[in-house]
Amino acid sequence: MRLSGRVALVTGGSRGIGRAICEALADAGAAVAINYQGSERAAREVAREIAEAGGVADIFQADVSQREEVQRMKKQVLARFGRVDLLVNNAGITRDRTFVRMDEEAWAAVLSVNLNGVFYCTKAFLDGMLERRYGRIVHISSIVGQTGNYGQANYAAAKAALLGLTKTLAKELATKGITVNAVAPGFIETEMVAAVPEETRGKIVKQIPMGRLGTAQEVAKGVVFLLSDDASYITGQTLNVNGGMYV
Ligand code: NAP
Repeated sequence: MRLSGRVALVTGGSRGIGRAICEALADAGAAVAINYQGSERAAREVAREIAEAGGVADIFQADVSQREEVQRMKKQVLARFGRVDLLVNNAGITRDRTFVRMDEEAWAAVLSVNLNGVFYCTKAFLDGMLERRYGRIVHISSIVGQTGNYGQANYAAAKAALLGLTKTLAKELATKGITVNAVAPGFIETEMVAAVPEETRGKIVKQIPMGRLGTAQEVAKGVVFLLSDDASYITGQTLNVNGGMYV
């Protein structure tokens, strides 16, 4: 198995894309630390499913936008698994409205989780990767960070920032055995997209050359590739998983 012997942490692993990433990592042989914020039952369900399939997983509660909570999670994950080799910064939220209507709360909330959360989690686990001179980091960005999107100034800004962060970290860590890449999903069938009104979703699908939304599993396959040794010479890149919507 491609990832046997590796320990992975997936933020926001309780639902949607994060859940599919946890399952795909466990399938590939990694032990998986599943982070969640509020959906404990869902997180337990992911861990149970992985265990039933013969894998190893445990759940860890933390709001990634809170540095102290991330530090607490770090202690718990290290106590359980000893180290983190593979970090997937997946946790994300939306607070959509046009820029004219966007208040500071909506701006700050999205930047806190989608960008500061990545800062806190990467800070927390990078020192161990540096000590062992091995690590793989994947940031889950979005097509919206590449194209912008009506009503998503906060989200687009955070997701675009992740691409700059990816390239910079890749350069800083290239000689240390650590690769840093991003995955930019297009529109994927999860609860996040289910929250978009039906009519808007219909319009989005018309703009996708493949004529359908993607699945969380299709995103997860790209993530597993970037975390595997098959991607040993790939760093600072963005893998677009978007059905041809942005090329
Ligand atoms: P989702 O179904 O809404 O799930 C979001 C996940 O993030 C949940 O597991 C949630 O955990 C977790 N989360 C939210 N806030 C958190 C926090 N403060 N601390 C820790 N975990 C937190 O979303 P999704 O569609 O799977 O999206 C996953 C990632 O892909 C996000 O970064 C999103 O921006 C990105 N993305 C999604 C799409 C898409 O079309 N769906 C497209 C491009 C990019 P709890 O439920 O436990 O709170």
